[in-house]
This record gives sequence, C-alpha cells and structure tokens, in this order.
Amino acid sequence: MAVQVYIPTPYRQFTERASRVEAEAANLQQLLRVLAERYPGLGDRILAPEGGLPGHLNIYINQVEARTLQAERTPLAAGDEVALIPAMAGGAVPATAPLLDREQLERYSRHVRLDEIGVLGQRKLLDSKVLIIGAGALGSGAAIYLAAAGVGTIGIVDPDRVDLSNLHRQVLHFTHDVGRPKVQSARRHLEDINPRLQVRTFETRLSSDNALEIIGQFDVVVNGSDNFPTRYLVNDACVLLGKPLVDASILKWDGQATVFLPGKGCYRCLFPSPPPPGSVPSCAEGGVLGALAGHMSTLEAIETVKILLGQGDPLSGRLILFDALAGEYQQLRWRRNPECPVCGDNPTVRELIDYEGFCGVPGAHEEEAEAEPEAVQRDLTPRRAWELLQSGVTMIDVREPFEFQQAHIPGSELVPLGSLLAKAKQVLDPKRETVIVCRIGERSAVAVEALRRAGFEKTYNLSGGLVAWINEQLPVEQAGGR
Ligand SMILES: [Zn+2]
Repeated sequence: MAVQVYIPTPYRQFTERASRVEAEAANLQQLLRVLAERYPGLGDRILAPEGGLPGHLNIYINQVEARTLQAERTPLAAGDEVALIPAMAGGAVPATAPLLDREQLERYSRHVRLDEIGVLGQRKLLDSKVLIIGAGALGSGAAIYLAAAGVGTIGIVDPDRVDLSNLHRQVLHFTHDVGRPKVQSARRHLEDINPRLQVRTFETRLSSDNALEIIGQFDVVVNGSDNFPTRYLVNDACVLLGKPLVDASILKWDGQATVFLPGKGCYRCLFPSPPPPGSVPSCAEGGVLGALAGHMSTLEAIETVKILLGQGDPLSGRLILFDALAGEYQQLRWRRNPECPVCGDNPTVRELIDYEGFCGVPGAHEEEAEAEPEAVQRDLTPRRAWELLQSGVTMIDVREPFEFQQAHIPGSELVPLGSLLAKAKQVLDPKRETVIVCRIGERSAVAVEALRRAGFEKTYNLSGGLVAWINEQLPVEQAGGR
C-alpha cells in the first residue's frame, strides 16, 4: 500500500533532496510517524507535540486538505498522493490559507454571523487553549459548550473514575462509562462533539507540584473543582501565572459565579480564608440539584468565550448568586483587596503552598485510603440495624437537633456529633453494641471511627444513614405526624 508523498523544498534537506518519497501507511497519522522515523529532523516539522496535525502545516491528500477529511485519521490507500505544504514567510508567496475552511464556516456559521465573533473571532476561539479543572458537574457543561464552540484545545484535569452517583449532573459521562477514568470518558465524548478538537488529559490530582506546569500551557482556566484546597491552589497558580480564572460553585439549590482577571482581584480577595473544615457540607453530604450544575457551568462557558474574544463585560468584580429554589438572581460587587496575600500590593504568597494544610484538612486523602478495608465490617445495612434495634441495641443519631426534629428513627437518641465524644461515657456502654446514624452515613462513619479509637469497639455505622433507612420503608417519626 505505497503512498506517494510530495516533499516541499524547505523539507528536502531531511530527505536527501528527494522531492517525492514512497511510504506504507494505513492512515495519515501513521504516515507522518513513518516519515518522522525514517528522516530525523522531519519529525519536529510534521508532528504536533500534542498529537493531531500541526497548525503550521497543511496536508493535502489527492489535492483535498486533510482537515476537511478526517484529519490525522484519514485513511490512505495505495497510490494516494499526499502533499506536505508548510506555512512560509517571505520568499515565494504561498497561497494564503483562509481563516476558516469550508467545514468550519458551516459548523460555526451561527457564531460567524454575530458581530462580536465573525470570522476573526471564530479563528481566535480555534487558536485558543482552555483548561478545565475537574470533569465533574461544572466541568461537564463547560467542556461540552466550549468544545462545541470551537475552542481549539481543551485540557482536563481529573484523577477520578466515573461513578453511578455522578451521572445525575455530570452530563459529559454516560452510564456505560461507569468505572472508567473521567478524563477518558470526557475525551471520547468531546471528540464526538467536535472531531478536530485537541483534548489534553491530565489524569492526576492538581497539586502544588504540578499546577504551574499544567496551567501554564493554557490561556484561560475554568474552575470546576469541588473542594477548597483545590480552589485556593488554582487561584494562587492563576495569579502567579497571570491567567484569567472563570469560577463557579454549586451546593444544594444555590449557585455562584464570577471571573478573576489578572490584576483585578482573585478568589482570596473575595474569600480571604477557607471555612473551617466540615462547616460547609460537600455536595455528597448536602446534595445538589443536577440541572443547577448545567446552569452555572454554561455561565462559565459564556464568560470563557467572552474573555477569549475580548468582547463584552466579563463578570470580573461581580458575583452572581442564583437561588434556584426561589428563582432569584442577585449580583454583588466585590473589589480587589490591596492587602491580598497573593494579588495585593505586597504579596506574601509568592509560590504555591500546602493547600490541604491551609484549609485545615491535613492528609485528607491518605485517611480516605486507609479507612476502607475495615469499614466493611463496621457498616450495617438498614435491615440489620433494624433487627438490632428490635433486640434492644442503643441507636444514637449524631445529626443536629433541627434535623432530628424533622425526621428520625423511633427509639433513636439524639447526641449531635459535636458533643458525642464528651458525652460518650454517659450515654454509651463500651460492652454493649451501639448503632450510630446520621443523614447519609458520613457523619456517623466519622463518629464510629472516633468512638472505636476511644475504646467503644462495639460501635457500628448505619450505612447510607436515614436516607437508606427511608428507602427500605423502615419506620420513621416525622414532624407533622406523617
Ligand atoms: Zn487577591
């Protein structure tokens, strides 16, 4: 299956002056690799470091530009003629390539018709690189719209695998992706949306060691992180590198969104210090409306496009608050803080720090990993807990009084988590079995861990908490007598 390849003058120094060479390859990408291997020096010119086709090179297959075919994946057959046409400056005038080819003109025709975008604006989007932190709820919506919008390169950082409980809001992943790394699932679906998109994936947790290196490769950063250490890390890295950061966050029915532009204030100007650990529930604990993620993430995509185009008024200095339950928006003004330790006039944070420590969650990840093997034995199903309760075992509910009042398991005793350890000796008998319950089994797991360490070894966790209990249709006492 020999293919004929035309070598242009500037590249003939690598092919021993040959203007035509023959090679065997099933598709264009394979052909370029074969040529790069055969002719040292040519590789740098014809291979893009991130895969795909290099922007400075047009490749024609039987006189049709490869990007209008299947780009690097265009299949080749025996006798095909491939021509490599590099961009050249000076000397002979090369035919100037149009800003958008036919496929792009059609794909982005509704963008091109907007005065604020046009052909030039669309070209800007195609040449831009956006990094999305997290392929979760916010990252999903932002990535989908930015890929569809023609942002040329999208980077995605995420260390996690797709979980069934992600799917109600993380619309970049599908049921058949459960168990697969999120970056892989993201890549596949984004390439389905836009085959010419370059996706760069980072299957890793963003850390002080890798953040500058990763973020440095992109023009704009979209924050879709779900924890405070990462939020402060991304913020500081963006300030240090002078990158715009588009930010949103969601919890329960509430959404927030804003934009941090270099020199115009940062996340620390808005929130100088993180909340005490445990005081703000995670979405796993507190819950979140799935469609709210879509709403806030498209706001992020819109702001990103505006920044890339240099059009409109970015949300810099303004915080949008959306109360989905009330159906109300508010807009708050905020300012750069000249005393800000990162972006202020006399910054004290000049390099990345230990963000887990800063947010008061030292070694959080190690703990998670260690806790798992033993957790299996100490967790009870609702049915098993019900049987134990029937046989007279003590059940302690570690939620807050207002939660207990709304609904609780008959016969359970309220001892909020904050006071449990102090009261343990009064309420618990270390020789007797005790079941601990909370709303979804997270606070109770913490309680069980602490109690066992304090010598109450016969303590068990109601796995899935009251939510799982109600799902099994076991008896509950509710406010209002229902
Ligand atoms: Zn600041």
